[in-house]
Amino acid sequence: MSTELEVIVIGGGPGGSVCAAALARCGHRVLLLEKASFPREHVGESLSPSAWDTVQALGVSDELRSARFAAKSGATFAWGDDPSPWTVAYPARGDEPAAYQVRRGVFDEVLLRAAAAAGAEVRQGWRADEIIYQGERATGVLCTSPGGHAEQLTAPWIVRASGAPGRLDGRPGYLPGPPELENMAVWGYWARDGESPGSDSGSSLLVGHGDTCFWYFPLDDRTRLASVGIVVRPGGQRRLGDDPAAFYRGTIASCDVLASRLSGAQLTGPVKAADTRAYASKQMAGPGWFLVGDAACFVDPLLTPGIQLAVEDGTLAAQTLHTILVQPDAQAQALEFYDQICRRNYETFVRLSCNLYEAAGAAGQGLRRPEARRPASAADGQLAFLSLIAGLPRAELAIRLGKYIALRNRAAALGGAAVALGEKEGFAFLGWQFHQSALTLARAERIKSELDEMSVVRLTEGATIRDEVFVPPDGAATLRRRMAATNGLGDRFEATPELVTLFAVIGAGCPYAEARRRFCETMAIPAGHGRTQFRDWLEMLADHGLIEWQPEGRGASCAV
Ligand SMILES: Cc1cc2nc3c(=O)[nH]c(=O)nc-3n(C[C@H](O)[C@H](O)[C@H](O)COP(=O)(O)OP(=O)(O)OC[C@H]3O[C@@H](n4cnc5c(N)ncnc54)[C@H](O)[C@@H]3O)c2cc1C
Repeated sequence: MSTELEVIVIGGGPGGSVCAAALARCGHRVLLLEKASFPREHVGESLSPSAWDTVQALGVSDELRSARFAAKSGATFAWGDDPSPWTVAYPARGDEPAAYQVRRGVFDEVLLRAAAAAGAEVRQGWRADEIIYQGERATGVLCTSPGGHAEQLTAPWIVRASGAPGRLDGRPGYLPGPPELENMAVWGYWARDGESPGSDSGSSLLVGHGDTCFWYFPLDDRTRLASVGIVVRPGGQRRLGDDPAAFYRGTIASCDVLASRLSGAQLTGPVKAADTRAYASKQMAGPGWFLVGDAACFVDPLLTPGIQLAVEDGTLAAQTLHTILVQPDAQAQALEFYDQICRRNYETFVRLSCNLYEAAGAAGQGLRRPEARRPASAADGQLAFLSLIAGLPRAELAIRLGKYIALRNRAAALGGAAVALGEKEGFAFLGWQFHQSALTLARAERIKSELDEMSVVRLTEGATIRDEVFVPPDGAATLRRRMAATNGLGDRFEATPELVTLFAVIGAGCPYAEARRRFCETMAIPAGHGRTQFRDWLEMLADHGLIEWQPEGRGASCAV
């Protein structure tokens, strides 16, 4: 059996199940190993409309609908300095809501069954212990059966969809996300009895003030269960202390908007806490292996990208793998493509989440407080939401959206996709927008260094360097002699060896590239390091009025 396998998928969460189902549908022999016996509970209950679309493609809509999850009609924000709530509505599709808030025990089991129905062999209670490599290539999995027996399974491709990194995930290692997303989460589940009022109406409630942000996700129409959590940002973590449950109760009670939603509801079960720092794998796929979902990256619990990324990665991994299995010579390009798309999706959500938290207000040292970026009005929820997570004021957003739509319309006229600014299109716009700003920055950097290369560096008029006498910093009785640079205004600077060398190299004027070469040679700086060090030095000297760049006008490198 094992020699015939084409793919082993580790993990039967949303990412693993979607991937296994799609591969099995293409006729591939797939084995899925899941260490738990389903149903098993899992945090992460609020689906984005994109995630719901992807899941529906598995043909499980009826089954999921019969679970009577709460329909997700949108999200209400009470965010930043202006606490008055405003709502973004997710447009319904006919009788269907745009998405649902699910109970993961039921939801994940339905997806796992769909993978089996599509033809994947699903083994529950099987734990993968180690991935086997031959050189760089993953070739199999050491695992333990439900009876405790160790087994070795081999397959040309291993998909790791085993959730948050653990023992299995030594290679290739992870990189941390930005400091703004070094957050913790504390959460619990609340239920209402049939008598108490409640006004959930399927809408998420997100409250953000400073270093504490809250989510309220109504989960189930029947039991009137809700998931209520707190994202504690770096500035607030010292308040968490040793007793997250006490912190949780106290902080929820102090949030008026939330406390009124929870009136008549009781906390059921324990309060849980988790480290929710963002991370991404250094590589998303390689010879013989793919990473999917939380095994590839994690962004944030509040903006709910988790299941969306997991099911989109799972689908894309299956498409990429199918391509490789039918066209082996496409492997290198296909792996690179998968890596790029997963990384770009991760980076887009990182930007969105940072903007969202930034707009909630200050969170510890070093984070900015962007009043200007809060949506100006709640009149148009979709635009207000886009403005919030894009980090753009409304007027700027309108201009960029216009540009994007014009571009997409031009593409549509040439045979590309047509534009409809629904939820998916909104995310496509944001991805494009962030990519554009990265491109603009890269282009500015390139122009800047090209201008530098073409310029001539010279001392400003009156700048000199010579032996001078100084009061020594240690307060000794006699003055000491040192090299000192003086600008045309008479300001004196004690000269370091680098500064003395620069003055000698520049002299009456020297082309930038030649000056850099001679500076690096004299100071024995490797060429790779020399580029930035040299520019840093020149920028400092220019700031102190000791040199100027010519002929592109004063400070050519500042011209962009
Ligand atoms: C506090 C919190 C709140 C969140 N809220 C949301 C939300 O509202 N909406 C949202 O979209 N996302 C949310 N997320 C994120 C979301 O839960 C995850 O992104 C999502 O579950 C990832 O799916 P996955 O398939 O990659 O992994 P998982 O769902 O974690 O599934 C991995 C599976 O692999 C199995 N497994 C693990 N190790 C092994 C092994 N060695 N061998 C075999 N099987 C193994 C596990 O048992 C599990 O079933 C939240 C996360 C946190 C921490």
